Amino acid sequence: MIKVVKFGGSSVASAEQFKKVKDIVLSDPSRKFVVTSACGKTSKEDHKVTDLLYLCEAHIRYGVSHEELFSTIEEKYYGICKELQLKIDLKKEFEHIRTQMKKGVDTDYLVSRGEYLTGLLLAEYLGYAFLDARDVICFRYDGQIDLEKTKARLLEKQNDTGVVIPGFYGALPNGAIKVMSRGGSDITGSIIANIVDADVYENWTDVSGIYVADPKIIKNPLQIPTITYNELREMSYLGANVLHDDAVFPVKQKNIPINIRNTNDPTKPGTMILEDCKELDEKIPPHMITGITGRQNFTIVTLVKSHSSTEVGFLRKVLSVFERFQVSIESVPSTVDTFSVIVNTASVSECIYEIVSTLKEELDLDDIFLEEHVALVAVVGRGMKAQPGMSGKLLSEFGLNRINIKVISQTADELSIVVGVKNEDYEKAISCIYEKFIAEERKVL
Ligand code: ASP
Repeated sequence: MIKVVKFGGSSVASAEQFKKVKDIVLSDPSRKFVVTSACGKTSKEDHKVTDLLYLCEAHIRYGVSHEELFSTIEEKYYGICKELQLKIDLKKEFEHIRTQMKKGVDTDYLVSRGEYLTGLLLAEYLGYAFLDARDVICFRYDGQIDLEKTKARLLEKQNDTGVVIPGFYGALPNGAIKVMSRGGSDITGSIIANIVDADVYENWTDVSGIYVADPKIIKNPLQIPTITYNELREMSYLGANVLHDDAVFPVKQKNIPINIRNTNDPTKPGTMILEDCKELDEKIPPHMITGITGRQNFTIVTLVKSHSSTEVGFLRKVLSVFERFQVSIESVPSTVDTFSVIVNTASVSECIYEIVSTLKEELDLDDIFLEEHVALVAVVGRGMKAQPGMSGKLLSEFGLNRINIKVISQTADELSIVVGVKNEDYEKAISCIYEKFIAEERKVL
């Protein structure tokens, strides 16, 4: 059994958190590959090391003193070292970083130092070997990971004791550090899990799994015990953000489950993300709804043109206008001779009137109108498939709560139903679905 374990920033925010991480790692001999984020916040007033490093870089760029900021970072690491009685020569490490900064440091190098230093400390504390991600995670010049090269490097360097690898960065073929997008340590963990054919990829954070609905809207929502990769994609696309979006792909390729766990409550099983939950579902049938998510601030562009439903290529012409303006489309619900194109309002803020006039000009429309301030609510669940009456029950709940539905869409895989409502009805919509399909249903059981 091999487990790749990734600890997020909150799990390594202080010496106290390091102790919890040690207990977790050493309690299971299969936890041999440890990936870490940079130290996160210990409280609301505190700052994530990576944010401070980005700030330092901006100060250097604008010629403003970064001394105070950088000292805050140094103090954080010195504090952890002291409390855990680590021997690492931090002075030497910081001197090196300062020398690089004086030379006119590059951003990627500087902002990756949070993971680098956290990894060094954690490796010593666990008694594991430290593998610098610079020597393991190989980027190509196009910014993609070279999986074959990364695999060769990792297998050459791995040992039996266990290794700690900093997340979030790697190196280009010329050796220069390159970082991933924010939250990228999730991707590092997933790549390592793929390479070592892990049995499970454990992602340790500060919640005991993925919530059924946003806790900012629903007080103490339930957690999802099992979810498929595809359901998770649907959930995160519209708002639920637990894992970096790109972290699913490397493990999905090899059908490796991801287990979201809580460093502060390790006895909880967390959420298991799997390619296929069939085996589990046979034992315990899934609830109809796995999760409810959504986002506000969409714009609906509705186009009316008689006989457009039989005009070959009409939809392509409409979509090509949006493509020319580099706008990505969320959904295209349609009826006879009327099409609605739903887009994120922010993505068309500069060009919506130009898009409308181009559509009018090129497509000889009977009418076109815009509706802004729309929210999309997605009800996701593998248990909804082939359940006659499900969408009926769902939509009647909107009616009973006097929520007007603007658009509805569901694809043939029946994995999710997306409903468009006014922004002002967004929270009410999520609350009433949660109440009816989650709270009431679970109460009966
Ligand atoms: N430390 C980086 C960030 O804050 C990467 C990570 O934590 O995954 O985005």
